[in-house]
Amino acid sequence: MIRLLFDEMLSRTATWSRIFGVDSAHAAGKSDSEIIKLAKEEGRTLITRDAELAGRCKTHGIPFFLLEDDVLSHQLGQLKSAFGDIYTFPEGTRCPACNGKLAVAGKEAVRGKVLEGVLNKNEKFWVCTDCGKTYWEGSHWKNILRVFKSIK
Ligand SMILES: [Zn+2]
Repeated sequence: MIRLLFDEMLSRTATWSRIFGVDSAHAAGKSDSEIIKLAKEEGRTLITRDAELAGRCKTHGIPFFLLEDDVLSHQLGQLKSAFGDIYTFPEGTRCPACNGKLAVAGKEAVRGKVLEGVLNKNEKFWVCTDCGKTYWEGSHWKNILRVFKSIK
C-alpha cells in the first residue's frame, strides 16, 4: 500500500485522501528539510504543488508527485492516475483528523461519547484507533459520496 505525505498547503487534499482510504501524512509546520527527512524515514511519496520542493525531492531520491491543479476532485483524480486504484473507500477509510485506522464499533462502545440523538439514529460507528474520535454516517456522508463519485 502506498504511503503519501502531503505538503503543508495540501491539508484539505490530505484529509480527503484519508477519508478515501490512503495512508496520508500531512507535513504541517515543517521545513523542506524536515519534510524530506520524514518522507525518507517513513517511506512516503511526497505530494506537492511546489516545484521547488519537488526538485529537492528529486535531488534526495525521494519519490514525489507534483499536483498541477487546485480543484480537489482533479487532484484526487491525478493521484489515482499516477498510483492506480489507491482508494479503498469505504472499507479502508482512515481518520480524517489524524490518519489513524478506524475500527467498526457498535452502539454500546460509543455510548456516552456521542450525543443521544446520534446514538439513537445510527447502528454503526467507527472509532479511530489512534486519537479515539468517533464517526458515523452523518449529514456529511452524502457530500463524501458526491466527492468520491467526482473522482475521475
Ligand atoms: Zn484519529
